[in-house]
Amino acid sequence: MTQRQVPFFNYRALFEAQEQELTAAVVDVMRRGAYILQQDLADFEQRLREFLGVKYAFGVADGTNALIIALQAAGIGRGDEVIVPSHTYVASAASIHLAGATPVLVECRDDHMIDPAGVRAAITGRTRAIMPVQLNGRTADMDEIMGIASEHGLKVIEDAAQALGSRFRGRFAGTFGAAGTFSFYPAKLLGCFGDGGGVVTNDDAMGERLALLRDHGRNERGEVVAWGTNSRLDNLQAAILNVKFRTFGAELDKRRRLAAQYDEGLRDVPELLLPPAPGADPRHHDVYQNYEIEADRRDDLRKHLEQQGVRTIIQFGGKAVHQYEGLGLTQYHLPRTELLYRRALLLPMNTSLGDEDVGYVIDCIRAFYGRG
Ligand SMILES: *Cc1c(COP(=O)(O)O)cnc(C)c1O
Repeated sequence: MTQRQVPFFNYRALFEAQEQELTAAVVDVMRRGAYILQQDLADFEQRLREFLGVKYAFGVADGTNALIIALQAAGIGRGDEVIVPSHTYVASAASIHLAGATPVLVECRDDHMIDPAGVRAAITGRTRAIMPVQLNGRTADMDEIMGIASEHGLKVIEDAAQALGSRFRGRFAGTFGAAGTFSFYPAKLLGCFGDGGGVVTNDDAMGERLALLRDHGRNERGEVVAWGTNSRLDNLQAAILNVKFRTFGAELDKRRRLAAQYDEGLRDVPELLLPPAPGADPRHHDVYQNYEIEADRRDDLRKHLEQQGVRTIIQFGGKAVHQYEGLGLTQYHLPRTELLYRRALLLPMNTSLGDEDVGYVIDCIRAFYGRG
């Protein structure tokens, strides 16, 4: 087997793949001097609305601010509890804290999505909302989550930062609850060249509040009518996203092909737990923001792959939200999530990869477990 270099993510390749179109779009924005709340942003918001089939979409500063604004627009704040999985990026829980509410952490299941049984068990008299996190390009079982929410009169704010284009029963991640949020961080499914985020809703009152919140509480006439903040997606980033949207569908298809290749190459290795394969459950249309496996002897496997030129990552710095000492949530005991963090590994999964790269990663893993 000849050695290859397989980076985890190739940031430079994002530009190289569409250099001329991207350069033209950026230069055009700068020649027009069109930086804040301009046409490119309006166009991007329209594209996002059409893609998801939603009534309102706003480009905002980043995925974290999208969550904060969504919670605020839903009226969630001091004294309220919001249920969120502990297997997530710290931003999900932080947004709840920063909105003034308390994050209540729950377990995930074998597909790494929020555990509905855990949600049920965590409901108290103060619970106001559930924040399912649509991780790794998969959408949680939203029949169960929406069922629990309606039974208990709870709002659902979806963190779909990792799931633009993912569907459950044909419906897009981010479009189930009161609001859904996205991140356009460069390594996300649809990435810009800096920070960026989006928030969507079908609810008129939510739409109105989100529009005010992201621009200093100003209405279309520029009058301040409410408290708001500054959270506007840069017009320059919107112009970049408009270019990247053209190839987005094909990129999602490619991720699903690479995931199928990983699945085929690794599914008979008993030391591994793989993500559900594309199409394994027809209710789920996964788009593989990440390919997160669980592996016996994870740390040794990781070292072996590194020696073979394959870069991997342990998601979120290798810790669940309740395992960060500084956040004061270490009282939680979530055994499934803790097991996951001893075993989880992200294999390279991005649109710059070729079949040969994925084939090589598969060969290296099989060799490690003596299953060549
Ligand atoms: C990336 C991410 C966020 C935050 O997005 P930013 O744009 O980086 O602020 C929130 N939640 C999850 C699950 C993410 O992966």
